[in-house]
Amino acid sequence: MCGIAGIIANFEVSGFLCWALHTLQHRGQESGGISTYNSGTVHKYKGYGLVSAIFTNDTLSALAGKTGIGHVRYPTTGGSEQENIQPFNFMFRGHSLSIVHNGNLVNTDELRYEYEGRGHIFSTTSDTEVIAAILANEIIHDQTVDAAISFCMQRICGSYAVIFMLDGALYTFRDPLGIKPLCLGWFKDGGYIVASESVALDAVGAKLIRDVAPGESLRLRAGKVYSRQVMSASSPAHCVFEYIYFARADSVIDGISVYDVRQKIGALLAKEAAVTADITSPIPDSGTAAATGYAAASGIPFREALIKNRYTGRTFIMPTQAKREMAVRMKLNPVRGHITGKSVILVDDSIVRGTTSRRIIAIVREFGAKEVHLCIASPPVIAPCYLGTDFPTREELISHHKSVEEVRKAVKATSLTHISFEGLVKAIGLPCSHLCTGCLTGVYPLAIPGEERELRDIERIDPYKNMEA
Ligand code: SF4
Repeated sequence: MCGIAGIIANFEVSGFLCWALHTLQHRGQESGGISTYNSGTVHKYKGYGLVSAIFTNDTLSALAGKTGIGHVRYPTTGGSEQENIQPFNFMFRGHSLSIVHNGNLVNTDELRYEYEGRGHIFSTTSDTEVIAAILANEIIHDQTVDAAISFCMQRICGSYAVIFMLDGALYTFRDPLGIKPLCLGWFKDGGYIVASESVALDAVGAKLIRDVAPGESLRLRAGKVYSRQVMSASSPAHCVFEYIYFARADSVIDGISVYDVRQKIGALLAKEAAVTADITSPIPDSGTAAATGYAAASGIPFREALIKNRYTGRTFIMPTQAKREMAVRMKLNPVRGHITGKSVILVDDSIVRGTTSRRIIAIVREFGAKEVHLCIASPPVIAPCYLGTDFPTREELISHHKSVEEVRKAVKATSLTHISFEGLVKAIGLPCSHLCTGCLTGVYPLAIPGEERELRDIERIDPYKNMEA
């Protein structure tokens, strides 16, 4: 979970990058930053907190340039140290390199060790710096930027959507499985944008062209996009949790409307749960689209049982358990008249640790609900994610060590229904073989030490095969 954006245009880009990052804020709230390039100088500004708190008109004015990249961070690899706030900026042999990354490499340690052996000194604990080190090392050894990207993509393993700026030129590449989203858009006034989600394009008035393909690398100029298919996989492995929870509902990811997927999940869940109740309510906001689908398919009226304080962060992406607990209390307040004496269906996106569900059900019962039926828009999360999501240990996952019935008892729900795995895949509309479902099945699309791997081939294809976007 992180959000990234890059713009190259005929106009100053810092304000547009700030809006794009603000729109991607749901992907990371710990910190953010922007780097721009203007006449040989890289301007940079970054800090902790929300985008609206980091940037002011003055700081944005100081970020001069018609090319820039930005990042909002949720920490996965590397801690919350200031050094790990992106973009990272480097100078080497007269070049300036600024880079942002969404995803998680699974071979960071080996690569760090190898490059430290060659004399490279790392100043952060982030996997993104490893990507930068590989790119810089190739360029130092007289490789073209395209060749450096190809080499880098062959060496790094994991999920990655990367945007970098080298001497004011903008490049981007996406891992061969397309695990994390990345899309391309254009400005009618001249220029291009790449960003994690299409909502960032909408926010800045850009038009979506298409998704960056898995294994593709793009070199962007203000008037042209050069594309190379650097890596190829027998099938992609798009993260199912982008559709369930991570992405904004109004995004279109890999050609699929996230809102539509969530509504379909809700409709299928209504058939699978077959619960009788007085109202269908979302746990806002990520359960809302699924709840509308549930209500429409079941005929049980949609009524909001809980109102969200929109000025507190998403509980799941708060970095510590204590902060998550406090955030739930601050975040949701019941609508007493919709709850008292009623049988309530609560629709949520997922159960990870179970603490949030337990607390919300307790609040709804406290306000007089007769029954609380919990309907979950994902199958049980039973395994860790090594590819960019912060549920790293099996011990933390309530569904890893408890059956559905045991989880129901633990969260004190009247009933608990998860969408079936088949129902989820049907709602997304892609073949199961095109999805990463590692955290739901314990079987991953690439090699992770100690874990089971799906059979999926990844190869380098002709790096000089050019095609235009
Ligand atoms: S393991 Fe789960 S959260 Fe991680 S990339 Fe795969 S589907 Fe997404």
